[in-house]
Amino acid sequence: SPAIEIRDVVKQYASSNKAEPKLALKGLSFDVPQGGVFGLLGPNGAGKSTLINIMAGLVNKTSGSIRIWGHDIDRDHRNAKTCIGIVPQEIVFDPFFTPFEVLENQGGMYGIAKSLRRSEELLRAVRLEDKRDAYARTLSGGMKRRLLIAKAMVHSPPILVLDEPTAGVDVELRRQLWELVGDLNDQGVTVVLTTHYLEEAEQLCDRIAIINHGELITNKPTRELVGMM
Ligand code: ADP
Ligand code: ADP
Repeated sequence: SPAIEIRDVVKQYASSNKAEPKLALKGLSFDVPQGGVFGLLGPNGAGKSTLINIMAGLVNKTSGSIRIWGHDIDRDHRNAKTCIGIVPQEIVFDPFFTPFEVLENQGGMYGIAKSLRRSEELLRAVRLEDKRDAYARTLSGGMKRRLLIAKAMVHSPPILVLDEPTAGVDVELRRQLWELVGDLNDQGVTVVLTTHYLEEAEQLCDRIAIINHGELITNKPTRELVGMM
């Protein structure tokens, strides 16, 4: 079965006095297969973050259904949540926490016993072992992004979702993040990433779905898409 099953998902944002009610997702349906790197590509405003935020439980969908590793996010919310790790676009850490503490805290949030936590291993995986005890506020932007990835992996989810992982990062850091995504995927993690860079999706993803104005434009193996463009 697919890693993620998205069926007829509609999101209508409530209207505010500033804006008209916004139909951000217009009945999206597609599957993310297990085991690959899946790219969700589309211009700004396409609806990528909305979809990620629905999967993360941060935004309620208007209708439709989503199954994560077979678990319906409405009916089986707990299990769905344990099967996915989400790396948000915005970096938010308590500036006085250290990377080690950030990961230990997250382990506590998931109710993982101290002896079973993998904080050191995760710090090594994202190459932050030297920064174990530094205040988060002293980390570079790239280190913070790597820490966010480690944080999303604390509960060992089979699926990792990254929202615009390389937006606004320099070439060297982008290369590092791409490598990290590849490593995780090699270890069996199904990776989903959103991007508005076609080149990034081509390099990293074996399958690409393109959305625009809340609608699915195409969903194909990368090698088939590249020939079309
Ligand atoms: P993307 O991540 O692809 O850039 P978003 O999911 O952020 O797209 O946005 C999709 C559409 O929904 C945009 O038109 C955006 O303005 C609108 N939108 C996003 N968040 C809100 C919100 N909280 N309230 C109203 N409209 C929103
Ligand atoms: P196995 O040895 O059975 O492959 P692992 O310990 O490698 O098990 O992986 C178990 C789970 O832990 C993976 O499915 C993945 O979610 C997560 N995981 C493994 N390696 C890493 C890593 N380097 N960084 C983050 N998460 C990882």
